[in-house]
Parts: sequence; structure tokens; C-alpha cells
Amino acid sequence: IKQKALDAKKEVAGLEKDIRDVEGTIENKRSYIGKMKTLQSNTRKNEEYQKCIQEVEKTEAAIDELENAELELMERLETAKESLAQKIFKVQDSQKEMEEILARFDRTAETDKQLLDNLTAERADLAAAIPEDSLGEYERMTKSKGVPVIVPMDEKGHCGGCHMVVTDNARMKVLGGHETVYCDNCHRILH
Ligand SMILES: [Zn+2]
Repeated sequence: IKQKALDAKKEVAGLEKDIRDVEGTIENKRSYIGKMKTLQSNTRKNEEYQKCIQEVEKTEAAIDELENAELELMERLETAKESLAQKIFKVQDSQKEMEEILARFDRTAETDKQLLDNLTAERADLAAAIPEDSLGEYERMTKSKGVPVIVPMDEKGHCGGCHMVVTDNARMKVLGGHETVYCDNCHRILH
């Protein structure tokens, strides 16, 4: 998009230069006509007088043509300027869009960080509520076994960590829900 805007800008500049060139040429031809008219009024030779008239006519016709060409160039310049303006708008639009996307990314990153902060704070609160022994044990197990270290026991008495059937004794304790019960096989905490 940016390249297109630059191309349009170049086209406008090119047309403006062409118009200046045409105007320069017209200017030259007008001063030539001026010279011919001066010569015409000063000369005494009929042949030269006639030649001056011809030159003036010829040059005036050339100026007419150049002026028509200039009008055409001016029309093309108008169109090119409009097209340039549109392309600049598009560049600005796409820049704005890009900025909006970046801003959205920034906001997401901020939200993620806030979420993480909240979870960390929540975990600290929960950890504070757990007796120190249990917390220490939990953290040791987390390191040696990886999470989760507290696993559910299903209704048939399978450990949610290693899937082995736990002993009847352990099963009763889990169902009782009053003490910490470990899986006999993987030693994860059952609930
Ligand atoms: Zn187990």
C-alpha cells in the first residue's frame, strides 16, 4: 500500500514537471513572437516582413497546441492528485489498523499478566490456610512426582494417579474424609 502511494506521488510530481516544461516552452515561443513582431515593424524588406508574419502565425499555432496539451496534463494531474489522496488515506488507515492490533496485543499481555498475578496471590492465600506440615509435604511431592499430587479416587476404588486399586482400608479412610490418605502404590494423596 505504501509503495502504491509513493508511486502515485511520483506520478503527481512527474505531471507537475511536465506542466512546468510546457509552460516554459510556451514562454519561449511568446518571446520569439515578440522578437518577430519587433523585427516586422523595423524591417524595410518586404520578404523579411512576410516571413515575420508567417513565423508569428506558425508560432501562435504551436502555442495553441501546447496550451491544449497543458490542459490535458492539468486534467491528468487532478486525477493523479485525487488518486494520491485516496492512497494516502489507505496508508493512514492501514497504519491505524496496525496500531490498533498492537494496542490489542498490549492489552492482552497486560490481562495475562494480571491473571497470573491474581492466580499467584490466590495460591499464596490458599497455601497460608494449609497447615505447614501438609504444605511442606505437598511441595515436596510436587517436586518428586510432579502435579497433580492430590488425585481423586473413583467409585471402584482406583487411584486417579496410578490407576491401581487402593486397599480397602485406604478406601474407607478416603470415604470417611477425615484424614490424609496416601495411595499404597504411588503415594499420591487421595480424595
Ligand atoms: Zn496411586
